[in-house]
Amino acid sequence: MDYKAIKGTKDILPGESYVWQDIENKARGVFSSFGYEEIRTPVIEETALFIKSVGENTDIVSKEMFSFVDRGERNISLRPEGTAPVVRAYIENNLDKISQFQKLYYMGPMFRAERPQAGRMRQFHQIGVEAIGSTHPALDAEVIRLLAAILDSVGIKDYSLKLNNLGCADDKKKLSGALKEALSDKEKALCDDCKKRVKLNPLRVLDCKNENCKTIIRGSFKAAKFLCEDCDAHFKEVLKYLDSLNIKYTIDPYIVRGLDYYTKTVFEVTHGSLGSQDAIGAGGRYDNLTSSMGGPAVGACGFALGLDRIMLALEKTSGEKAQKPRLDVFISTLGENACSKAFTILDALRSSGVSGDMDYEKKSLKAQMRTADRLGARFVLIIGEDELARGEAVLRNMATKEQASVKFEELVNTIKERAK
Ligand SMILES: [Zn+2]
Ligand SMILES: [Zn+2]
Repeated sequence: MDYKAIKGTKDILPGESYVWQDIENKARGVFSSFGYEEIRTPVIEETALFIKSVGENTDIVSKEMFSFVDRGERNISLRPEGTAPVVRAYIENNLDKISQFQKLYYMGPMFRAERPQAGRMRQFHQIGVEAIGSTHPALDAEVIRLLAAILDSVGIKDYSLKLNNLGCADDKKKLSGALKEALSDKEKALCDDCKKRVKLNPLRVLDCKNENCKTIIRGSFKAAKFLCEDCDAHFKEVLKYLDSLNIKYTIDPYIVRGLDYYTKTVFEVTHGSLGSQDAIGAGGRYDNLTSSMGGPAVGACGFALGLDRIMLALEKTSGEKAQKPRLDVFISTLGENACSKAFTILDALRSSGVSGDMDYEKKSLKAQMRTADRLGARFVLIIGEDELARGEAVLRNMATKEQASVKFEELVNTIKERAK
């Protein structure tokens, strides 16, 4: 074999793709029921968009983006996340002029050049929402409820939700300053990344996965006395709304999520089956992002779920598995004349809404029956020279093994009736 998929990417094959579709379809159903509409943005964007929004000194932007200069000397990146593109689209297309408040969802691949491991691919897939245009605390709770509803609908159980309140830009500045101060005499013991972070963007030390850094940071810094009255009140309201829906959560003052744009509520959903990469979804509020990108000053809140991790969690738990879609009817033929007849019958069946297929490999009848089995066909229609001469086909119910002869002209109605 001369060619292989790029490191950190993978093919999603038919034996698996129906499970992905099942999750996507269930998510779409939940989104509709919450009043969210789909938005599809390009996978490539100007690199500057992510530097401005996600933040220059975040791991995502400084280490993980797939960036390149195109033939027109433009700096372009494969999107590493979905929020910045959606906010860009909201502003560029003046969606706020239609209705300032927009509830949007997206599904698709994202790209980050991390070291590939279980549950962490370089092309990974996210389902996410961005509700742009409201600062209401009920929206934070709705977005969290929506995330839970999707996990429920796809059969993910035993996940846990952690919340934190980052506060507004001023609060974050105070938090940042406090972190810097708390770590000033411990800098030498931190990892090289954290040494830089303390100088350039102290909040990002809380993202560090290094156990030594975690211990030092948590030992020298006890969080959250930095919230202004407004931000404190907002978070209390969010919790009240969550309580009103009996949503269980824990407060974790060290959750900051690795993106600069978050303000106030941030949250993370983890699943025990996933090992060290246990985050299955995360999100939060980003009240300054839209205005910082040249759009209206509106509040916003969103989340992204990792589809690859949902798949892993489903594999590792004994949840209900998606059923592979079945075929209504498979037509087995013997001989070229039967094949021609079957070809038109098949088309009539498909046009009437019956799903069907036939043999294109000149296989033996026995082998064709195996194909029908593999496709999960509920009925097999057998047409050979004898049937052709009589103007009828043998209709076999694969579950009951019952067979009956049906006239060609009655086939569509008969099968339509039985396949209901
Ligand atoms: Zn504040
Ligand atoms: Zn570190």
